[in-house]
Amino acid sequence: MSMTKIPHRLYLTEEQMPKQWFNLRAAMPQQPDPLLNPATLQPLGTADLAPIFCEELARQELDGATPYVDIPEPVQEVYKMYRPSPLIRAYALEKALGTPARIYYKFEGNNTSGSHKLNSAVAQAYYAKQQGLTGVTTETGAGQWGTALSEACAYFGLSCDVYMVKCSYEQKPFRKAVMGVFDAQVTASPSNTTQVGRQILAENPGTTGSLGCAISEAVEAALASGGTKRYVLGSVLNQVVLHQSIIGLETKLAMEQLDEYPDVVVGCAGGGSNLGGLIAPFMADKLQGRSHTRFVAVEPASCPSLTRGRYAYDFCDTGHVTPLARMYTLGSGFIPSANHAGGLRYHGMSPILSKLYHDGYMEAVAYEQSRVFEAAVFFAKHETILPAPESAHAIRGAMDEALKCKQTGEAKTILFGLTGTGYFDMTAYESYLSGRMTDTIPTDEDLQRGFDSLPAIPQNRM
Ligand SMILES: *Cc1c(COP(=O)(O)O)cnc(C)c1O
Repeated sequence: MSMTKIPHRLYLTEEQMPKQWFNLRAAMPQQPDPLLNPATLQPLGTADLAPIFCEELARQELDGATPYVDIPEPVQEVYKMYRPSPLIRAYALEKALGTPARIYYKFEGNNTSGSHKLNSAVAQAYYAKQQGLTGVTTETGAGQWGTALSEACAYFGLSCDVYMVKCSYEQKPFRKAVMGVFDAQVTASPSNTTQVGRQILAENPGTTGSLGCAISEAVEAALASGGTKRYVLGSVLNQVVLHQSIIGLETKLAMEQLDEYPDVVVGCAGGGSNLGGLIAPFMADKLQGRSHTRFVAVEPASCPSLTRGRYAYDFCDTGHVTPLARMYTLGSGFIPSANHAGGLRYHGMSPILSKLYHDGYMEAVAYEQSRVFEAAVFFAKHETILPAPESAHAIRGAMDEALKCKQTGEAKTILFGLTGTGYFDMTAYESYLSGRMTDTIPTDEDLQRGFDSLPAIPQNRM
């Protein structure tokens, strides 16, 4: 470490912002298993993906070999409105914890959408526009992805149809209003506007919806558009991890300027894109034998895909209209308990992160939501940022790493991803502050019901 005092916030200059994304798959000794066509169980090609995804995004999805991908100029232009994002030294948090560890966080909540999701939304909207499409369809859970995508679509002049998980639609009316400002068309899911929505409603009329179900509706809406729209997704997919690598690339550059390198990298894991993007260049170092950094994925105990899921081929959605991906999954039929307020509710996990975890390059921990909100409030008081509940999982993980350092006296360098702010999550904060928040951990029987929904294909019996 250099002897000069490290600043509280390190901003790269605009010129220093990376002009290429980094494709972590190109550094992996073994590739994640390929996406499969559920009808034939054969690996998918770009032609199979063309009706669902934008051409360039389908190409990126299947390209595990090209290490660096140019960020198109118009995408860089939007990035410059809110990037580079700051790398912050958490001096106040370190002091409050009494830890010898040095804690850094990369803050992605500084843009108007309030999360890292804008990084991929801008790229995906740009490619859709470039292909001559009129619009895109998508799902959103807590609403951050829908917000980010609405903003990107408004900028590039595309329509944006958002299927929003019904319980969020009802609990977060302001999210819907924000998307409305950007002209998005928001529909509560399951809805009766799609076949798959009607079918899910018929089977389970009282359902509050799930991400997997909203994905099914959004894919159907894209397929029904007569080729004018495509479906876009805010996490999980390889292309999204690629776009989110901007987070890790900037972080690595900034840390180099400080003569720092992380011993531990901690991030929250929903679909895995923010964590995949944050760790990308550091993980490449580890895979190529240049470092021994530990990587820790943090997930909710009520939706424990990595820590309690199966590594199996599964559908990415409840309606089974998407390709099969081999990933850690709780089964596409799994729906987290309704009192879970901390986000990160997706049943599966990025195939890239799943593979790295399966091969022993990454660790995972799960926390109950009350401990996550405890960390969120502690962090807010000391670092003056009100974190998104999702991000607070990473805070909890990083705080616990720092507390371990306190016990051992080790001055480790801990890096974590602060993915966003929590101003639309005040109902959850209120529930925590009033002592009404409860923790629900699924039983093995609950999980078994999800596993029963896994497709019965040969790979899954191994
Ligand atoms: C969506 C979201 C997450 C989850 O991100 P993944 O990349 O899907 O793991 C985390 N934090 C915030 C603030 C989010 O909006």
